[in-house]
Amino acid sequence: MYRFLILLLLFSVQIKSQCVSDEYNKLLLQQNQTEFPYVDDISTNRSGITNITIPVVFHIVYNTPSENIPDGVIYQQLEVLNESFNLRNADTVILTDTLKKLVGNFKLNFELAWKDPDGNITNGITRTETSYSEFTYYQQYHKKKYNGKEPWDTERYLNIWVCDLSLGLLGYAQFPGGPVETDGITMDYELVGDRKYNWCSSLYDGAHGGRILVHEVGHWLSIFHPWGYTTECGNDMVNDTPLQRGPVQIYQNCPDTLFSECYGDSNRILVKNYMDYSGNNCMVAFTPGQVAKGLNSLNVMRQTMLESYEPRPVVESILDFKILQQNSNIHIVLPPHDDYLQLEMYNLNGKRLINFPINRQTIINLGGSGLADGVYLIRILGGSNLNSVKKFYKHN
Ligand SMILES: [Zn+2]
Repeated sequence: MYRFLILLLLFSVQIKSQCVSDEYNKLLLQQNQTEFPYVDDISTNRSGITNITIPVVFHIVYNTPSENIPDGVIYQQLEVLNESFNLRNADTVILTDTLKKLVGNFKLNFELAWKDPDGNITNGITRTETSYSEFTYYQQYHKKKYNGKEPWDTERYLNIWVCDLSLGLLGYAQFPGGPVETDGITMDYELVGDRKYNWCSSLYDGAHGGRILVHEVGHWLSIFHPWGYTTECGNDMVNDTPLQRGPVQIYQNCPDTLFSECYGDSNRILVKNYMDYSGNNCMVAFTPGQVAKGLNSLNVMRQTMLESYEPRPVVESILDFKILQQNSNIHIVLPPHDDYLQLEMYNLNGKRLINFPINRQTIINLGGSGLADGVYLIRILGGSNLNSVKKFYKHN
């Protein structure tokens, strides 16, 4: 009996691992009685804004230390997003010749927010301890005060909550047009990053690598699953995606060819699409139609975000790092970099006050409320004889 129960549990976990965006958004509709705005892949109301950068904030809502994933993992995840939304991923080579003609490029950039809603300099990551051991999609406790973290202005930031989602739930996103107080994406902490880390169980093998979030950002941009919204063989409002009965699962091992199975349709389905369930090594491309629909959505539904975007201070190279003071805090601003750097701070007597490594961070808060007014030196050290020193005056 006991063994049977374990088998049953394993089986149910296997079939339940999924994106629950459809279920989540369906509930919203039932509660609010409004339809999500109709967005298709036909260009209608483009704002004409190009070189779009989306400011992102990650809200880490943790109950155990392993759920409190490190900053470095967020940077790795962000890199996967930027790779995927700029068609820089090399594994589109797995596409058949037919599918290669059906690849679109968003040319969208994602950047950790550098200012919070109050204008304070930030690294774009918040951390909140919660007493809840897990969360699910039909309650939004992780998005609320006391149990989790309220969003930053959802019209200006893409909010991504990272928490322990109930067994089998990988993540979900709210389609544009839903309630502002819950707008954003929720991810299970085991699926964030660009690989399987030592805190990840084997429940989600095949899904690690960062593309679940690419899929969820697709939903956040109004893109539906290729099989449509809460249905089979439905309309995803994209012209170049064939009808499809339902998801392609990881265990199907990413075949080159599968057929739609809709109404006797003999069309091949996409299989290797970011908006399917076919696994990290199989979800490698958006179609041009999906890209058009996503960009339409962005331009129509998220125009405030595009218009209010404030570029980061330009830092050309690590040698030209910037020191910003805000209130009594000192922030170091670096350009994006892969280097492992060392940061040091000295007072004028040559006494070293701070010394720690920097791993891909581009905004570092050194604090500073305890520092007396006066002159200090910041030094950044790295490989290839990188050694840059700047002086600044600290004032309270
Ligand atoms: Zn989905």
